[in-house]
Amino acid sequence: MPLKTPHKILLSEDEMPTQWYNIVPDLPVPPPPALHPGTLQPAGPEDFAPLFPMALIEQEVSQERYIDIPGGVLDIYKIWRPSPLFRAHRLEALLDTPARIYYKYEGVSPAGSHKPNTAVPQAYYNHQEGIRKLTTETGAGQWGTSLAFATAQYGMECEVWQVAASYRQKPHRRTMMEIWGATVHPSPSDLTEYGRSLLAIDPDHPGSLGIAISEAVAMAVADPNTRYALGSVLNHVLMHQTIIGEEALLQLAKVGETPDVLVGCTGGGSNFGGLAFPFLREKLAGRMSPTIRCVEPAACPSLTMGEYRYDFGDSAGMTPLMKMHTLGSQFIPDPIHAGGLRYHGMSPLVSHIYELGLAEAISIPQLECFDAAMKFAQTEGIVAAPEPTHAIAAAIREALACKESGEEKVILTALCGHGHLDLASYEKYLSGEMVDLDLSTDAIAEAMKSVPVIAG
Ligand SMILES: *Cc1c(COP(=O)(O)O)cnc(C)c1O
Repeated sequence: MPLKTPHKILLSEDEMPTQWYNIVPDLPVPPPPALHPGTLQPAGPEDFAPLFPMALIEQEVSQERYIDIPGGVLDIYKIWRPSPLFRAHRLEALLDTPARIYYKYEGVSPAGSHKPNTAVPQAYYNHQEGIRKLTTETGAGQWGTSLAFATAQYGMECEVWQVAASYRQKPHRRTMMEIWGATVHPSPSDLTEYGRSLLAIDPDHPGSLGIAISEAVAMAVADPNTRYALGSVLNHVLMHQTIIGEEALLQLAKVGETPDVLVGCTGGGSNFGGLAFPFLREKLAGRMSPTIRCVEPAACPSLTMGEYRYDFGDSAGMTPLMKMHTLGSQFIPDPIHAGGLRYHGMSPLVSHIYELGLAEAISIPQLECFDAAMKFAQTEGIVAAPEPTHAIAAAIREALACKESGEEKVILTALCGHGHLDLASYEKYLSGEMVDLDLSTDAIAEAMKSVPVIAG
């Protein structure tokens, strides 16, 4: 064990991994397939073809352990990758812990989060197959900005449905999307039948991610030159994010460390899977044995409170059915500040490894998360996005437990985005207006009623 590791552990561009890792062939039990909502048979490539290009559909069901990252993607990755791994010396000192805390920082990307890691390959493969436009949804705007940046790299159009409440309250990410040439609509919008039906009931409808997905999907299937892009949840998205964990493995090896505990925030599961899966591969191969833990918001706890069922990815029931931990596709979580964690479901792959006992999960309320983020900003300097404040809070819990026990654990987490466009949340915290929102178990029970009952 090194006495004093450096603050930043960097890789050169030449050391950047050139393959993504697909965990599926290494799992002891294969994950359940997505189902066609009409026939309830495993969904085939033709079911996904109106939505995604063939290269991504192949990746979604691939049994290959490694997939080469195309040169046209590596070129764009190199704008910000490899991303730094930091040792949180100053946070450790504040906590007075014997634990060693490392964080992989994805806020260095153009959009300020990990999302461009998948936005770039998604735009690339669509472009390769002659697609001219991508549609998508966005909550706070992290995914929309990432896809707007990525489509701009390949000269494609991008149309984004932004959850209406965020569209009104958070105009700055909309501006970023427009800088990169995207068109942004509030969702629900009057451009789709589903949107119009919701606006007829409530002209000020706040929207939800599930509704915005339905609108973006409806627009994509209506135009043969347009496809849809999803920023989380799906297997190919998590696979693109494994560049995070592959880099982190190389970086920790440089300082002779292996993690004892790995924590990551989970909304749809992509930054968590991206960091954790390469380490889970090492664990399954017996080369290390970290505890792997998902951290979700107490107001939207799909893993810890949801049921493991087949459910839709969207609110209108247009997507294939996926087996995942869900709070019900009609569930609209309370407006916590971590907008990226307000999704009713969890990635089927993360849900599967959780069911297999290969990962743990906890939920943390937002006040503890912002408390942790304040300590982090005041020591490490980085103002975290509201989502990874959950990862920071979990890392601090673990470090304080080490202080009690005297254990010198190595804790690894992903700081998956900066919070420079989320300062309104910090204002709420600083002024004392932020509160912990109660989870409505009644609302979950109500939303679960419309989840289809499917055996298996
Ligand atoms: C979108 C987003 C998340 C949630 O998505 P995951 O797929 O769970 O990673 C978390 N953090 C940030 C910064 C995001 O932009």
